[in-house]
Amino acid sequence: MLLDKFKDECGIFGIKPHPEAANMAYLGLYALQHRGQEAAGVVSESDGVLTCSKGQGLVSDVFTREKLQRLRGDSAIGHVRYSTAGSNRIENAQPILITCQHGQIAVAHNGNLVNAMEMRRKLEKIGSIFNTDSDSEVLLHLIAKSKQETLEDAIIEALNQVEGAYSCVFHTKDKLIAVRDPRGFRPLMLGTLGESTVFASETCAFDLLDAQFQRELEPGEMVVVNRRGMRRSMKPFEEKPIRQCIFEHIYFARPDGFMFGEHTQRYREQLGAKLAEENPLEADYVIPVPDSGVSAALGYARASGIPFAFGLIRNHYVGRTFIEPKQSIRHFGVKIKLNPVRHLFEGKRVVLVDDSLVRGTTSRKIVKMVRNCGATEVHMRISAPPTTHPCYYGIDTPTRGELIASSHSIDEIRKYIEADSLEYISIQGMLDCLNNSSPESYCKACFTGDYVIPFPHQAGASV
Ligand code: SF4
Repeated sequence: MLLDKFKDECGIFGIKPHPEAANMAYLGLYALQHRGQEAAGVVSESDGVLTCSKGQGLVSDVFTREKLQRLRGDSAIGHVRYSTAGSNRIENAQPILITCQHGQIAVAHNGNLVNAMEMRRKLEKIGSIFNTDSDSEVLLHLIAKSKQETLEDAIIEALNQVEGAYSCVFHTKDKLIAVRDPRGFRPLMLGTLGESTVFASETCAFDLLDAQFQRELEPGEMVVVNRRGMRRSMKPFEEKPIRQCIFEHIYFARPDGFMFGEHTQRYREQLGAKLAEENPLEADYVIPVPDSGVSAALGYARASGIPFAFGLIRNHYVGRTFIEPKQSIRHFGVKIKLNPVRHLFEGKRVVLVDDSLVRGTTSRKIVKMVRNCGATEVHMRISAPPTTHPCYYGIDTPTRGELIASSHSIDEIRKYIEADSLEYISIQGMLDCLNNSSPESYCKACFTGDYVIPFPHQAGASV
């Protein structure tokens, strides 16, 4: 991942019943690794007892064969995390497992609860003690406190008290419960593997396991899988306007998947084609900023008739941290990840295609790098509209002040990144590319500032 992007959120997984449940969860998380690289965890259930194993790092680093063998039983949930709410410490890794009056319960959560801080303060006032600063723990406290007779009802009662984005899989001593919030901000897929029910954030997890994708959970739907593997679906929440995250299509989701009724790769290519149609241009090559700009660049090249070329080569083996030399190397951070194919730029007019421009710092370095190779014209095209507002629904974004498009015109940004021209796809263009889903069913708040759920700052504090 390059430096100047919105950050992926979290990935969740669940399976029941399956003789190798923990191994399946491990593989499912492996396929979902792009959704979070800071921590990974699995909870499995054997004879009514839940066992948790988690750690910081990539899935393949966290789990050894021995650790997986200790996760016995025929049922498991898993989580990969990028810290959206809550800092990056091991206590915040998920699934979170607690024991309360209802017995053991574990949760793997994707999303952000907008009123988590407020709920937490209320709970602390009446004596609740928190182990993490993750908003998912607030959910577990609300469940633990519930006077409802069944755990299922306690979960429904807790979820009725929170506002925001949640796709969750819960594990109780005998059930797997998957739920998607009524607005459906984050995805959650249902699949089957023989007799087993499988849940995952994205369909790519099913592909790796040879599981069959059945359908997406509907916004506000709860699916319960009991000890014998029987599945029950219900809609226990008040209906609300649907607001699926359009940025999942543009950037977060893997391109090889299907989500919110759309094929991700096809949608991204259509964004690129629309971008070419909205802002025609003459150039020698269309060059993607890898990896995120590749699909849109393909669509741009096809629609414009300008040849596509891999002019920037990404080093796929860069770890999350690297040691910078003491003597400064210009643009080291970008150069360690991307290297230009020099002869493609010498004396050429190029169009660079990327899927977003957040602070502008990386784009500026890439434009400079390309010019240094002898490009005569460098045009930047972005397959998302300008990101003017932060996200409060489960994506890690800079503050509004750090988003360059919140305070600068497109021409000012063009000057800053030192490109010959800069164009973004329009909001209407982005919506026109949807094939099967309705534009109204999407959240676009980071482009419009039109937040469907008010967040605490809107109640008085500054953004
Ligand atoms: Fe997605 Fe943007 Fe809405 Fe956040 S604000 S949910 S990133 S569309």
